[in-house]
Amino acid sequence: MLRVVILGVAAGGGVPQWNCGCPVCRTARTERPELQSTQASIAISADGEHWFLVNASPDLRQQLIATPQLHPKAGKLRHSPISGVILTNGEIDAVAGLLSMREGWPFTIYAHATVLSTLKENSIFNVLTEKNVRRQPIELDRAFEPALPDGSRSGIEVVAFAVPGKSAWYLEGKPHTGGRNGAGGTLGLRIGDKTTGKYFYFLAACAGVTEDLKARLAGAPLIFFDGTVWRDDELITAGLGNKTGQNMGHIAMSGDSGAIASLAGLDIGRKIFLHINNSNPALLHDSGERKIAERAGWQIPADGMEITL
Ligand SMILES: [Zn+2]
Repeated sequence: MLRVVILGVAAGGGVPQWNCGCPVCRTARTERPELQSTQASIAISADGEHWFLVNASPDLRQQLIATPQLHPKAGKLRHSPISGVILTNGEIDAVAGLLSMREGWPFTIYAHATVLSTLKENSIFNVLTEKNVRRQPIELDRAFEPALPDGSRSGIEVVAFAVPGKSAWYLEGKPHTGGRNGAGGTLGLRIGDKTTGKYFYFLAACAGVTEDLKARLAGAPLIFFDGTVWRDDELITAGLGNKTGQNMGHIAMSGDSGAIASLAGLDIGRKIFLHINNSNPALLHDSGERKIAERAGWQIPADGMEITL
């Protein structure tokens, strides 16, 4: 049985974002605290005892406190159910949480060589000593089974594949030792239970839906998909920033080439948006955009939601 806990729903900055007075952030601070959400990450387990994080958000400490499944086992002086962290990119909202896992518990980081070299070049991540924290490169399109701390099998099969995207914004335009600019910077994951064969897809960042990607996702029981912005230009029109969704490597939910239209009719069992920016009006329960997304069969989740496959 594959268990998935949504640790955080929001894109970078979270909801509310510390320096933002947009309608969603204001509402989340005042009359609708249930809109508050932490930065995107999920936890997965095949045995209910050992868990793997998919991305480690800057909110990880708060997420772990809020998630009983990830608390130390009763009666143990030092323990964590977390056996590893699988990184899908090198963005701050995917890797900063690693710095909150520096207190000597052994685990493994699984990431593309590009992202591993970024971590290596940023010496602050050396607090995760090689002795305790193994780094294992992810090869594209090759299944791997993340291991438990004693080296035994986790029962989870992961296949990573490249999706349209870009490198982390703090690396934009910089030459990179891990590969050409952007290579391996955005991964999608197919995560499956080796015993039951059940699986789902995780794409928290995706700049566009190609025919290849459609073919891959068709018929999937469950997908988590990039829900950063509703409209490509919403940050600009709201006066919140000067970048489009595409500039940031994210597809919009709406529009002819948006996620909702592109992924319609593919016989996907359950469609959940993740990595939703606080500028996105679909976060508001009573918005027209929310209704459009829900009518198209998409779910806007809340932090802490658990799904079993
Ligand atoms: Zn905001």
